Order: sequence, then structure tokens, then C-alpha cells
Amino acid sequence: MTRVVSVFNQKGGVGKTTTNINLSTYISILGYKVLVVDADPQGNTTSGFGIQKDKLENTLYDGMVNEVILEDIILKTGYDNLDIVPSDPSLAGAEVEINALSQKELRLKNLFEPILGRYDYIFIDCPPSLGMISINALAASDSVLIPIQCEYYALEGVSQLMNTVNLVKRSLNNDLEIEGIVLTMFDARTNLSLQVVDEVCRYFREKVYKTIIPRNVRLAEAPSHGQTIEEYDDKSKGALSYFNLAKEFIEKGNRVSE
Ligand code: ADP
Ligand code: MG
Repeated sequence: MTRVVSVFNQKGGVGKTTTNINLSTYISILGYKVLVVDADPQGNTTSGFGIQKDKLENTLYDGMVNEVILEDIILKTGYDNLDIVPSDPSLAGAEVEINALSQKELRLKNLFEPILGRYDYIFIDCPPSLGMISINALAASDSVLIPIQCEYYALEGVSQLMNTVNLVKRSLNNDLEIEGIVLTMFDARTNLSLQVVDEVCRYFREKVYKTIIPRNVRLAEAPSHGQTIEEYDDKSKGALSYFNLAKEFIEKGNRVSE
């Protein structure tokens, strides 16, 4: 069975793309077959895997709007067990164009249908908005993984985020669950980071992963080389934390399904 997970938070800059790239990399290294879907018109997941956005033949846009099948969109990454559905800025058009199409909330779900079962996990990197692409991602997902940055106002927008999740759950996808909360960009030198951890744990309780992602400059540098943290510096604190998160993610999933 394929588990489809949306990496979702309508706030920008909280670590969605970094988490999407590096968590999926390490889960694939643990031996699972993973498909990464870049659902953000910025295409940072695509370029983060070293894929040039201006040379793409087909992208997620073609799948969602023109019904090009995934087989004709999926590209290989440098990892055996990890494939990607790339995006470029054309996806921004889908946000509007989809409204005129049939089953507008289910375009992504329908696109995945023929390949379900071929992967253990599909991770969707959502855009920083609550628009149609995010609705499509949530409607196509089994669960939502929420990165929260250890910053002032960390929980700002969280109730709006949860409202959206609950709306999709009620209207389109009854089984949608919260997969977990990942705290990102933790800075051990500040009290603020500790306060945020405390606050988020009080709000989300056991849903918060024990593995906390530290602020680590190597994580910020890797994408500019078109590399995952595993390729760029697999001994860095950032790399170790995403590897631990991958192991915790799998263990947590196994516990739930027992
Ligand atoms: P989002 O996808 O939510 O907009 P990103 O993953 O793109 O967020 O992260 C925003 C910025 O912060 C990027 O420049 C990224 O390289 C950087 N970044 C993300 N996580 C970390 C981290 N743990 N430590 C340092 N920089 C980070
Ligand atoms: Mg992003």
C-alpha cells in the first residue's frame, strides 16, 4: 500500500521543501520506494535534486491540467529508490485553470491512481498557500506532515491550517490524518527555540516528532549545489537529524499499523 503524505504549512520559509527533499531521501535509503511530488510552482524540490527546471518536457502542470500520465512526467533522481514529479513556474497557472475543469479538487488524486502500489511513500511538497493545489494535495493524501519553524509566532496560522485540513477531511477525504509535526531550524542557543518546542508540544502533544531539526548552514547550502544534504555533507548535523527523522517516521508508522 502506498502512503501519500502532504508536507503542508501555508507559511513560507518554515522548512517544507528542505524536509520534503531530505526526509524522502533518507526514507529511500532505508530501503523504501519513494516518489517525491513537487507541487510548488517555485520548483525548489525539483532544483534541489539537481534537475534543471528550464529543460523539463513534462511537469506536474501537464498532469493536473492536460491529463498527461505520470509515467510521462516522472524522472529518476540520483537515488535508486527515489523518483520525482518535477515542477516549474507554469504550475502557478494550474491554480486558476483547474477551476474550469471537472473534478477540480481531485485532479491530483486521479493522477496518482494508476501508479498507487508502485511506491511505498509519496511525499508532496505543497506551495505556501491554501489554494487549489494545496486542496488537491490534501484530497490526494492519507496524511499531513507539518513542519513548524522554531521562531517567534510559530503557531500563528496553525488554526487556519487545521481548519483547511478539517475542511478537506469533511468534504473530500474522510480518512485524512495528521502524520506528525516536525520542528525545524531549532537554535539551541536561544530560549525562544525552547519556548516554541514547549508551546508546539502542548498544542500537538504526541504528534510532535522527538527528532528536532537544528538550524544548520549545510542544509541551507545544499540546494544551491543541486544536492540533497546526504550528497552535500552526510556528516553534518542537518544530515544526521533528517536521517533520524526518517527512522522515527518509519517506526511511528509501523507502531500505528500494528
Ligand atoms: P518552505 O519550503 O517552507 O518555504 P524551505 O525548506 O525552502 O521552506 O526553507 C526556507 C529557507 O530556510 C531555505 O533557504 C532553506 O535552505 C533554509 N532552511 C531550511 N531548513 C533549514 C535548517 N534546518 N537550517 C538552516 N537553514 C534552513
Ligand atoms: Mg518550499
